[in-house]
Amino acid sequence: MAILNVVYYGDPRLEKVSEPVGEVTQETRRFVKDMFETMYFTNGVGLSAPQVGVNERIIIVDCSGGSDRDQQVALINPVVVSSTGEQKGTEGCLSFPGLFADVTRPNVVKVKAVDLEGKEIELEGEGLLARALHHEIDHLDGILFIQRMKKADREAIVKKMKKQKFEKSAKDKVLV
Ligand SMILES: [Zn+2]
Repeated sequence: MAILNVVYYGDPRLEKVSEPVGEVTQETRRFVKDMFETMYFTNGVGLSAPQVGVNERIIIVDCSGGSDRDQQVALINPVVVSSTGEQKGTEGCLSFPGLFADVTRPNVVKVKAVDLEGKEIELEGEGLLARALHHEIDHLDGILFIQRMKKADREAIVKKMKKQKFEKSAKDKVLV
């Protein structure tokens, strides 16, 4: 297993639409294991493949942050089939270390995807799980959380980002 390099805002791979995975292979499963290692290492609760520089439609989420392995979710080619309600909350992103802002997202999302055995599955998430799923699936379409913010927040963050170089991630916040 390996800790992968997380890429930061400004890297063009974060703003690309990622490619569907054709077939789930041993290599896919190995990559997903590395993604989990990387996410736990950086204290995230969600991670998408483009955030480690791979433009494939793969995401992982674990709202327990690694304390309850039953909460591990790994989705290949995930698609949001329905979203309802609304939640507002402070969000961060592993690709924007140290930056947090309020983002409104659906409160419940239903997702269709393929699991690590190549089987089609459906998953419903509420609250934090819905937020994390929505945030990660956005990554696969090159949509970053700054695009979901109020304009004033986005402008403040982009300004701050230009002055800053990112090496470390915050250790005590929700990062997805
Ligand atoms: Zn993110």
